Amino acid sequence: MLEKLREEVCRLHLELPKNNLVTWTSGNISGRDPETGLVVIKPSGIMYEDLTPENLVILDMKGKIVEGDLKPSSDTATHLYIYRHRSDVCGIVHTHSPFATAFAAVGKPILPFLTAICDEFGGPIPVGAFAPIGGEEIGREVIRSIGTSPGILMQNHGVFTVGKSAKAAAKAAVMVEDAARTVFYAYNLCKQLDSEPIPISPDMVARLHRRYKEEYGQ
Ligand SMILES: [Zn+2]
Repeated sequence: MLEKLREEVCRLHLELPKNNLVTWTSGNISGRDPETGLVVIKPSGIMYEDLTPENLVILDMKGKIVEGDLKPSSDTATHLYIYRHRSDVCGIVHTHSPFATAFAAVGKPILPFLTAICDEFGGPIPVGAFAPIGGEEIGREVIRSIGTSPGILMQNHGVFTVGKSAKAAAKAAVMVEDAARTVFYAYNLCKQLDSEPIPISPDMVARLHRRYKEEYGQ
């Protein structure tokens, strides 16, 4: 069932350790099949190198296991809550990627000081309030605070990204970490130079974002 989506979600998981976004078994990706509404997600506590398309778990939107012998990711409730409240989202990624999670630890958004941040996020990468793990609180806070950004930092926790596919959400997860790392270095450099990062005007942020969405790529 859902062979193609299983393969895509499995393959994308390997991008997480490759891009230094995860440690040990932390982090997870899911993809929703737009036709059936079924969700393919990582099983809980499985090493990345042991993931196969076959051992991923398929769930319906209420969390009932449709196919799979393993327990789904401990973040499943969050993924399903987001899918139920965002019909445009067919992929979700969760990581504790280190530079972005440092911003989450201090509860600060990543401001659009770089054209690449304007392109991908169209504004600041927001921070959602603290929410305990396990139930629907995280999902509710992601939906409340993410706005039109494809990524959000959850205070004291980590990163959630969304996209029209699992691949788009995975790309956003890589871009969140890249933005966090460069802005982190910029803040540090500013301390050395007694300076401030240079803001990009909201008009220009919107213009760059629009151009990227409409014109970039093949
Ligand atoms: Zn987490």
